[in-house]
Amino acid sequence: MNSTNASISAKPASTLPPEPASLHVGGLTPLTTTDFPGLLAAVVFCQGCPWQCGYCHNPHLIPREGEGGMSWAQVKAFLLRRQGLLDAVVFSGGEPTLQSGLTQACREARALGFKTGLHTAGPYPARLAEVLPELDWVGMDIKAPFAGYDRITGVPGSGERARESLLRLLDSGVDYEIRTTVHPHLCSAEQVSLLAQELAGLGVRRYVLQEFRAQGCADSALNLASGRDFAWAEVREALQPLFQDFSIRSA
Ligand code: SF4
Repeated sequence: MNSTNASISAKPASTLPPEPASLHVGGLTPLTTTDFPGLLAAVVFCQGCPWQCGYCHNPHLIPREGEGGMSWAQVKAFLLRRQGLLDAVVFSGGEPTLQSGLTQACREARALGFKTGLHTAGPYPARLAEVLPELDWVGMDIKAPFAGYDRITGVPGSGERARESLLRLLDSGVDYEIRTTVHPHLCSAEQVSLLAQELAGLGVRRYVLQEFRAQGCADSALNLASGRDFAWAEVREALQPLFQDFSIRSA
């Protein structure tokens, strides 16, 4: 190696500008009014998820290598054209915290003037802790009582990871919504009540139950279920007093 060139480029690491984020993006929704409360947002769908929920409505985003997709540079070019028109960027998936470039991508979105949101199921608590200072809002999916998580995700130990992520989110002070998708064949009213008590005990104040949506779900047996198979009225009555803010979101 030429020693002169080496000495010219050898700046202390702290003075180097950060590398642009690298993010594996499976798709982009240019405008939504429902993915970041109260704001107009674009949604960046990150490719890859370590879990295998049967009711997943984005199963094409589960493999780490998807077909098509786009680069973060392409997403940024889109965001530059939307400055002043959009309020926020939401990183969704798949599971965004799978990707090491997430924190830097959030910084870059904020530097462009956007608020940042995250949809996560919490499989990577350390990555979530790293990105939380760069976030304005988090929607976290909690799937079942923590001891019974594997039945939904298909992955041993997933409940512990989700619980750890939830604690980190609650500790951070970042605004949030905790939500649980209710599929009547996967989660009984008793299990939902048990989970709600666990969440309230951990300090959750804002909780939403979401009715399972068949749209996008690849499991034909699960798609046959009807919301009428679940005791919504009884669950509402039992859960409402546990939270400052509780609601049920219809399919
Ligand atoms: S955690 Fe979310 S993205 Fe991953 S498989 Fe489950 S529902 Fe799909």
